[in-house]
Amino acid sequence: MATLVELPADLLEALAGITSMGVITGAGVSAESGIQTYRGQGGLYDDEREGDATVEALSASTLNHDPARTWRVVSELARMAVDAAPNPAHHAIARIEQSLERFVLLTQNVDGLHKLAGSRNVIDIHGDVLDTRCRDCGLRGRLTPDEVRALQSTPLCSECGGILRPDAVLFGEMLPEDKIRRLHSELYEDPPELVLIAGTTAVFPYIAEPVVMAGRMGRLTVEVNPEPTIVSEHVRWSLRGRAGDILPLIAEALTSA
Ligand SMILES: [Zn+2]
Repeated sequence: MATLVELPADLLEALAGITSMGVITGAGVSAESGIQTYRGQGGLYDDEREGDATVEALSASTLNHDPARTWRVVSELARMAVDAAPNPAHHAIARIEQSLERFVLLTQNVDGLHKLAGSRNVIDIHGDVLDTRCRDCGLRGRLTPDEVRALQSTPLCSECGGILRPDAVLFGEMLPEDKIRRLHSELYEDPPELVLIAGTTAVFPYIAEPVVMAGRMGRLTVEVNPEPTIVSEHVRWSLRGRAGDILPLIAEALTSA
């Protein structure tokens, strides 16, 4: 695959006047940090049957009747998260936020790497795999890297001894209402001047819609992905390549403007 070495001239020109931006990221950005996902090409569970078993393990119904099975998969995802480091795409997105008056990041990734890289206004719509919530008393907590590495079975609440669950959205669960509200107010009601989507095939409507809507409302739209996706034909610029190669160019264009 050819690597894009410079941005289109008309995009560079548009970036020079930007004061607000929304960025949407998905598994492709995590994959560049070596985090494999439980679905999709090149994923950890590429085998379809194994993939289905994993999706089942990460479902609300399995959590209810066999939490240990859910935790076996969650702890594997959590170990990948604590062993990974932010990549050039994560760092570029954090720099973009610092250089603008208004910024929001919507991510599907549950590894927490955006926050680790310094992103602040983050809507992690699927939660964070290290965050926990007690099923009984509701106490929220966060696993430390040492706790993740030592995790052998279902973790229990330090307050009441109840079973902890990952504070992340499992298959078959609703998205958290507070995050949906933020998504609407920050990306739908008055979209930023430019909305960029990177490293996601945008299969979930709530991931594809903000960029499509922004385009309809006259905002600038950019896609960065190695392959074409369902949003490619709806964006002004569809750039083929890795987020870690292209986002630093966008950060550079914004900070040198
Ligand atoms: Zn508890």
